[in-house]
Amino acid sequence: MADKSFFIDTTKCTACRGCQIACKQWNKNPGTKTFQTGSHQNPADLSFFTFKLVRFSEIETGGDPKWYFFPDQCRHCMEPPCLSTAESSGSKAIAKDGATGAVVFNPKIRVKPADFKSIRESCPYDIPRWDERMGVMAKCTMCFDRIKEGMPPACVKACPTGTMNFGDRKDILEKANKRLAEVKGTYKDAMLANPEDVRTIYLLVDDPKKYHKFAVAENTIGITRKMAFKRLFQPLRDFRHMIG
Ligand code: SF4
Ligand code: SF4
Repeated sequence: MADKSFFIDTTKCTACRGCQIACKQWNKNPGTKTFQTGSHQNPADLSFFTFKLVRFSEIETGGDPKWYFFPDQCRHCMEPPCLSTAESSGSKAIAKDGATGAVVFNPKIRVKPADFKSIRESCPYDIPRWDERMGVMAKCTMCFDRIKEGMPPACVKACPTGTMNFGDRKDILEKANKRLAEVKGTYKDAMLANPEDVRTIYLLVDDPKKYHKFAVAENTIGITRKMAFKRLFQPLRDFRHMIG
């Protein structure tokens, strides 16, 4: 299997939550007790049993309310900070598939509370969740069990609007850039969120913070401090490697 990616075109999202339900269903995640928080968004957050959540925010600009829909999930980072953090504590609970790039949490490997805290804090998108009773973590799996059988992820299959797309990374990047060029005429602030750093690429047409606090990585250029540091010193490492 080739390197894979998602393209999530938020301009087409109607917040039907078909992806959210399909994710629950395919992963056999039970329903959890929720309550109305004054918004269309439900449940209030991702959890050990909710890997995909259509976030909803309503923002008033000049008296007119505007809605922002954001189908949130793991970005399957190219260089996952969660994985390096787990490895640094000696945990094998997180792995990256060499072919597709899917970042998967092993639901059978227990992690200590302090280690989970570090793993969650290392994620620029606040994705990892934990079952306190069992001491194990969970998040989006890229539907690895489906894609290895040639099927699309459940959320992509369920989406009726073309918001959710999945495929070989090269094709997905092409599709994302083509769509960005199309919408730029209407939305001057349109952007792809961290396309070089992640395998879940969002098309946003307004300030990312209006969609979700963690829509893009904190420093807006899309890389974590750890990645930036690594990139800064890569030429020096390459040079050292060349001269032996
Ligand atoms: S890829 Fe699978 S696990 Fe991930 S959000 Fe979509 S349905 Fe859920
Ligand atoms: S989005 Fe977070 S949980 Fe997902 S691969 Fe990246 S660092 Fe890990």
